[in-house]
Amino acid sequence: MQAALDTLRKVFGYESFRAPQQNIIESVLAGRDCFVLMPTGAGKSLCYQIPALLRDGVAIVVSPLISLMKDQVDALKQNGVEAAFYNSSLTAGEARGVLNALEAGKLDLLYVAPERLMMPEFQEKLRKLKVGLIAIDEAHCVSQWGHDFRPEYVQLGQLRPKFPDIPFIALTATADTQTRGDILLRLQLKTPDVFVSGFDRPNIRYTVVEKSKPQAQVANYIKAHEGESGIVYCLSRKRVDEVSEHLRKLGIDAASYHAGYSTEERSRVQNAFQKDELQVVVATVAFGMGIDKPNVRFVIHYDLPKNMEGYYQETGRAGRDGLASEALLLFSAGDILAAKRLISMGENPTQVAIELKKLNSIVEFAQGQICRRRMILSYFGETMLGPCMNCDICLDSPATYDATDDVKLALMAVYELRQRFGIMMVVDVLRGSKNARIMQSNFDDLPSFNKGKHYTVDEWMSIIRQVIQHGLLLQDAENYGILKLTPATRGILREGERIMLAKPRLKVEKPKKGKKGSSADMDDMDEALFKRLRTLRRELADKEQVPAYIICGDDTLRQMAMLKPKNRDDLLHVPGIGEKKADRFGQAFLDLLNG
Ligand code: ADP
Ligand code: MG
Repeated sequence: MQAALDTLRKVFGYESFRAPQQNIIESVLAGRDCFVLMPTGAGKSLCYQIPALLRDGVAIVVSPLISLMKDQVDALKQNGVEAAFYNSSLTAGEARGVLNALEAGKLDLLYVAPERLMMPEFQEKLRKLKVGLIAIDEAHCVSQWGHDFRPEYVQLGQLRPKFPDIPFIALTATADTQTRGDILLRLQLKTPDVFVSGFDRPNIRYTVVEKSKPQAQVANYIKAHEGESGIVYCLSRKRVDEVSEHLRKLGIDAASYHAGYSTEERSRVQNAFQKDELQVVVATVAFGMGIDKPNVRFVIHYDLPKNMEGYYQETGRAGRDGLASEALLLFSAGDILAAKRLISMGENPTQVAIELKKLNSIVEFAQGQICRRRMILSYFGETMLGPCMNCDICLDSPATYDATDDVKLALMAVYELRQRFGIMMVVDVLRGSKNARIMQSNFDDLPSFNKGKHYTVDEWMSIIRQVIQHGLLLQDAENYGILKLTPATRGILREGERIMLAKPRLKVEKPKKGKKGSSADMDDMDEALFKRLRTLRRELADKEQVPAYIICGDDTLRQMAMLKPKNRDDLLHVPGIGEKKADRFGQAFLDLLNG
């Protein structure tokens, strides 16, 4: 396998394969079909790119999105690989040029849209050429069970028998077993070697905080992460626009993205984000698969996602480059009600039941007091030993306290208000507010009035939310969210039971030092030098008219800042710098480093 390793080093500038890559490449080189399930950012592309370079003939890569193809091809060209794409974005002249290069045997890789590939004339051309392998990227698009079914992908099933002598490799990051089986069936792979690696994304830190003043929480978080790319997911278009406007008012570089905007506006936002010309995108889940940006540093869920699959996928857009990143979920009990209401409006009762069950899992995750990563992995059928030390629970276990007296106070207030008001009124009574509604109704005469002065509004809200989660109070969604006592209160009010609650945790803190996903230790690195390297990369990228990360990733720059290479040989030891990049940009980097 020396040839594969040499290619990895010379062309891509990486020192060693990641765990499953080598076996997959061996299989493809041996001419066997493969099915590859690896999480986002794990490095699926190399699994067909390296065989493409080592096998005779051109490799055909099927990819669902024009933007993904363009990115991959740009990146390959920077490494000196002969790659092109063939899709509807090309002018007639460009398309001709690509076909000529193909027929002349000049291409190592050709990315095609599925509908192009399935055209009989195109297949006729391919049959006259030498094709080295066919790779089907984002293979879950072929399955109706998957989350991103594409009708164009279905016809790909007819392909296997037409090219009997070359290996097929199907790749996806999609999760569940049903979809997996469906992909194999539909693509008719020939007794494929199946490679399934774990779902863990160790460089992503999972954090859940109580949603208290969400707009301020999000704004503060982003301000503490100056210059870092991030996505904020909201459940509705309206919310997207509100949040993004709020952020812009505070001077944060944010834009909205949802299905209500024109195609042009959406691709403008996506491009700007991709090129680091826009820091934050506030979006509905419509902002999705095209996001192959490696340096997304945080993904915030402003609202509760509808299920674990969605949460895992959306948070998975953070940290594709393997550097430390964060997934932050703002969670409130009120969001559960809103989500339930939304789901229950569905027409199909079986579907509604499934969705409610899925919602329960994400609620358990958000409310749980055990390692977040363990919960995610166990949802996808993986077990984990020991704590992950890179989630909010492991890094900072919530302090609990005996809250019996506080809980009793809250329950009494609900009772005295005759179970006819929502959280806000209960808190106002406890805190002795003298607002008009309270004075008009003489609530200042209630025994619990002003008994809870010792806590802030936010602290009381947190306590009451937890009381709801413990099932002592019920929030009536159909009825303005009024609070009602449940039979479970009996234990506390009459039978002397005690109750422990988590101390309210409302602040979104800058993550403490924990495990890092990257080999680069950012403490030791020369931060100023890194910034200058970043500026240089930006200039090089502008000259080439590609996004900055196509020149090289942040990790590469960090390593450069640390290793301070003196010459071309040193530079080749920096991960992500292959021979071609050393030739093209090496001098510019060396001048800066040694100038
Ligand atoms: P996926 O398609 O699985 O989401 P990619 O193929 O886009 O992931 O790879 C993600 C990142 O990991 C890319 O920046 C890629 O260059 C990098 N990468 C892949 N393999 C290696 C390796 N063996 N060593 C270092 N970096 C790697
Ligand atoms: Mg990929």
